[in-house]
Amino acid sequence: MKIHSSLSVASLLISLFATASLSKASETRPHAVAVDGILCDLVRTISSSNVKVSCLVPPTGDPHFYKLKPSDLINLSSANVIFHNGYQLTPLVNKLPSEIKTIAVGEVALNIKEDPQDNFIDPHVWHDPNNISLMATTIEANLKDYIPVYQWTELNNRTNKVKSTLSTLSSWITTQIDTIPVSNRVITSEHRAFSHLAKKFNMQEMPIIDSFSTKGKMRPSDLKRITSDLSKLGTRELLPETFPASKTLKRVSRASGIPISKTQLFLDGLAPDMSTVETAISNVCAISISQGGTCDQISAEKISSQWKNIP
Ligand SMILES: [Zn+2]
Repeated sequence: MKIHSSLSVASLLISLFATASLSKASETRPHAVAVDGILCDLVRTISSSNVKVSCLVPPTGDPHFYKLKPSDLINLSSANVIFHNGYQLTPLVNKLPSEIKTIAVGEVALNIKEDPQDNFIDPHVWHDPNNISLMATTIEANLKDYIPVYQWTELNNRTNKVKSTLSTLSSWITTQIDTIPVSNRVITSEHRAFSHLAKKFNMQEMPIIDSFSTKGKMRPSDLKRITSDLSKLGTRELLPETFPASKTLKRVSRASGIPISKTQLFLDGLAPDMSTVETAISNVCAISISQGGTCDQISAEKISSQWKNIP
């Protein structure tokens, strides 16, 4: 009986302690805000339940034109740290509360110096999974400032799983691009967003709309040059950003005789209901198939589930 009662007291104490630490954990969990691009999925995957992660620009939203809503400001007021892509992907970051630590993850991770010739860095850095891997390291290093030391090993394990999945994804992309005939290895998009992907995987890049000399208006001389460039680069299909395709893309298609693809590219964040890895696979498959290559869906699915199974 005595043994029984001391056991009861012990278990009561344990359960009280557990309840207290649980409620403490939920009260003191750090709050990270992921602003744009693929950061919502990436920060969530790396931090798991040890960090409260909220997202500002919706995963499928347009970061270039997003405006802060009153509810965003309320949400931001409890943030410990803000992660954003950087390279001016989202102009609203200039309006974020200055007292909260704000990290331009892409800029810190990649540390690309401005090209004096070009004077422009394509902010869509995540289309090269090797860049996402560097961004993962930056996020891990910064989250350590907000979580207890005993959670660091777990954080590091997840970051390593993220990085190894991205490395597998990078090899998978190389394999798919290799199936495209050499004379057709070009990424034709409307806006410039795939320069990092093109550079890493030895492809040409043809951003139709961003190739105009005049902003927004395509003159007949532009159309003539674009048609000639598309032919030289071996573009077989024009990949739209939206459906229905833009007027500009339709005009280019009519002038060049190059059809508009039935699959679209996802430039600015995640594809609807897709993870970072699934979005990358969707884009690479669209590029590869439209340019005469193939897309290995079976191996792609394995990489997608590897990402989803990161605890
Ligand atoms: Zn964009």
